[in-house]
Formats: sequence, structure tokens, C-alpha cells
Amino acid sequence: MGKDSYRVVAIDGPAASGKSSVARELARRLGFALVNSGAIYRAITWHILQNGINPGDTVRVTQAVESARIACHLENNESRVFIDNVNPTNYLREDRVNEGVSRVSTIRRIREIVVNKMRHYARSHDLVVEGRDIGSVVFPDTPYKFYVDASPDVRLQRRLAQGQRDEIAARDHADFSRLASPLIVADDALVIDTSHLTIEEVVGKIIAQLKLKGLAL
Ligand code: C5P
Repeated sequence: MGKDSYRVVAIDGPAASGKSSVARELARRLGFALVNSGAIYRAITWHILQNGINPGDTVRVTQAVESARIACHLENNESRVFIDNVNPTNYLREDRVNEGVSRVSTIRRIREIVVNKMRHYARSHDLVVEGRDIGSVVFPDTPYKFYVDASPDVRLQRRLAQGQRDEIAARDHADFSRLASPLIVADDALVIDTSHLTIEEVVGKIIAQLKLKGLAL
């Protein structure tokens, strides 16, 4: 028998703000499942690139995604995406995916599909969900909202340290300025600047806030 409602902790923020590491550690500490929404947009982007489709071609992208079987599972309490039975996890950080994902994620129909997948997870699990629009659009009613940020320099250094070529500035621009669910700070989110904090310190701040909000830990 499932519970009547499940709790969602929303972690939003720009690229390389530290949200993935923070969300993973937080989910582990809380015993909640972790949903990485960026990975779902990335998996879709990888799929359309594999099919030779230009990420800017809204009609073909939408057709390809609507006819694909997108299955979201939990594996070791973390979200995993399979598209037409293929698990693209190892390819989600390819340069071409970094370059195309912010185009694909502007398409309203694609956002609708991904949002439905995230809400589906919340029907059966307590979640930490990381992304761009989690507190503002996907789970606006959750009282547990955080926006993690870091200075552009720090974010760039983090990506370089990961050995990734990622045009953060271009993705930021696309994510902040798109019409459909742009990256914004939800009114009731706690903003945390992670520039000079360790993952542990950020998670500590979040847990302190969750306790204040009455989340039983
Ligand atoms: O979080 P990550 O950097 O992996 O996300 C990749 C891209 O997916 C973002 O740059 C953004 O364009 C898109 N995205 C989004 N909404 C989310 C999560 C990611 O539009 N909730």
C-alpha cells in the first residue's frame, strides 16, 4: 500500500552550480529517491541526435520523441532513463548533447512529457528532484524549495575540472531567456551560493532548513 502523498525536495539552479552533487548527497541522507531532470532532457537530446535530427527542428524532434518509448525507472534509488530500450547514461555528457540540450528543452511538448515523468515518480516515492523549473513549475506546491548558485567563474572552473567542454554561458542564456519554464528563482525558494562552500556544508544548510520547515528526519 502506498502513502497518500509523497514529499518532494526541489533543487534548482544553473549549470555547474553544484546541484547534482548536493542533490545526490541530500537524497542519500534523507533516504529519498533522486530524480535528475536534466538527465531526462539529455537522454532525449541524445536520442534525437542518434537519429540524425537537428535539435532546432521542433517538428521532427517532437515527432521522434512522441513515437519513442521513454521509460523512467529507479536504479539504486536514482532515476534512469531508457529510450526505446536503450540506456544512454554513458553518453549524456557528450559535447554534442551539451550543445543541443538547451534547444531541445525549449520545446513545450518535450517539457510536458518530461514534467509528466517527474510527477509520475512522485506518486510512489519521496524525492529529491534537481533541475531548472522544479520549484517553480513541476512541484510548485512543495514547501521544500532550494536554489543553488555559484559565481560564473567558479562554475566554469568546476566544468573544466571535470574535463568537460560545456558552453555554460550559452546554456545559461538559453535557460534563463526561454519562453517555456525559464530558469527563475521560485518566490519561496531558499537561495544558497555554493561558490565557497563544500557539498557537505550546502547539504547541512538544506537539512537545517528542512527541519525548520518541519520535515521529519
Ligand atoms: O542539469 P543539466 O545541466 O544536466 O541540464 C541540462 C539542460 O537540460 C539544461 O541546460 C536545461 O536546458 C535543461 N533542463 C531544463 N529543465 C530542467 C532540467 C534541465 O530545461 N528541469
